[in-house]
Order: sequence, then C-alpha cells, then structure tokens
Amino acid sequence: MSNCIAIDGPAASGKSTIAKLLAKKLNIAYINTGNLYRAVALAAIRAGRDLARLDREFLETLKLEYTPNESGDYVLKLNGKELEAALRTPEVATGASLVATESEVRDYLLGVQRNFAGKNLIVMEGRDIGTVVFPDAEYKFFVTATPEERARRRLAQNGETADGATLSEVARELAARDKQDSERPIAPLKPAADAVLIDTTNLNIEAVIEKIIGQIKRSN
Ligand code: C5P
Repeated sequence: MSNCIAIDGPAASGKSTIAKLLAKKLNIAYINTGNLYRAVALAAIRAGRDLARLDREFLETLKLEYTPNESGDYVLKLNGKELEAALRTPEVATGASLVATESEVRDYLLGVQRNFAGKNLIVMEGRDIGTVVFPDAEYKFFVTATPEERARRRLAQNGETADGATLSEVARELAARDKQDSERPIAPLKPAADAVLIDTTNLNIEAVIEKIIGQIKRSN
C-alpha cells in the first residue's frame, strides 16, 4: 500500500484548499500535481513550443523539483525558480489540460510523482492520483461540486481568471477543461472505484476536512 491520501476531482472543486488544510492538520506534506502539468505548459509556452507535440528531449531539459518550505509543503521550482503566480493564469490552465493529454508528458511526470512514495504519509492532489499514480493509495477521495459553485469559487480566486471575466465565461472555461480531462484516453479524470465521493457544494472547508478525517479514522 502507498502511504498516500489521494484527493482527485475536477477543476476548481476545492481540492487544493482541502489538501493543503488536511496536510496541515495531520502535520504531513502536501503535493499539488496540477502544478507539474502547469509548469510543463508554461515552459513550453515560454520556449515557443507546440503544446500538442512535446517530446521527451524537451521534457528532460526542464529541471522540475519540489523543495519543502518552512511549513513542510512542497513548492515546485522550474530551473531553480518558484513559479506560483505564473502558473495561475487561464492560458497556463488551458495549456496544462492540453499537455496532460500527451503520453510522453504523462509518462515523464508519473516518475516525478511516484518518487514521493515513501515511508511518510503524504497528501497528493490531482486528477489520476487514486487511479494511476498510486492505485494502491491508503486513502482515496474524489471531491466534486456543481459547475455553478465551482465557477463561483474560481471567480473569487484572484488571478486565476481572465480580467473582467463573467461567471458564465468562467463556467465555460472550466467545462471545456473538465471535458478534455475526462475524455482523454490516458488517465482520464474519474473517481477510483474505491474512492470516497464528497460533494462539497454545500459544505464549508472545515466540514469537508472533518468528513475526510472521520473517514480516515474509520478505516484504521
Ligand atoms: O489541478 P489543476 O487545475 O491545477 O490542474 C491543471 C491541469 O493539469 C488539469 O486540467 C489536468 O488536465 C492536468 N492534471 C492531470 N493530472 C493530474 C493533475 C492535473 O492531468 N494529476
């Protein structure tokens, strides 16, 4: 069994907020795997590459590393530089979803993600953690919310949407990304058969964390 709490779900479902807070409460490390796909897209955009056709040679030029910050969270660096704000643009989000359809990219990043398997329990968040990255994860959750609620949450996050975007524009962008993520042939977004489903539409973050911790305690 992998020492991992896998949290998967669609865009803007609250995964990152949940995974981060859960890791803090349990005093363990948190890894955001969406940032890996975003970093690949960002590097490809900067290098003027065709995002639909990335090869291993290009991927191997990227120095992607996670370094733990003072709170124990793993922060992704590309060629030694932190990327946080640059990763959170609509262009990079859409680009991430496109590069995530490519087998070269997924194979390459699978190795990066599996390197985190170890003796310490971690929280890892993404789309295919419970199905592909760690199918034998100790705990699996699939987090959802209605498309309207997800669009509302995304709009409330500064920077992640285009300037002046309306709720329906954001909803359209999320729906397009979810469609691409769910319909791709490799590692599509879907709940693992043994994942616990949590609909967060009407739950606040504390209630979600309580549910997850309750579930973890029950299965011990
Ligand atoms: O989670 P986030 O929205 O940052 O992820 C950006 C994109 O990266 C997703 O839309 C998805 O296409 C891809 N992704 C993935 N597998 C993961 C994490 C993210 O395909 N484990």
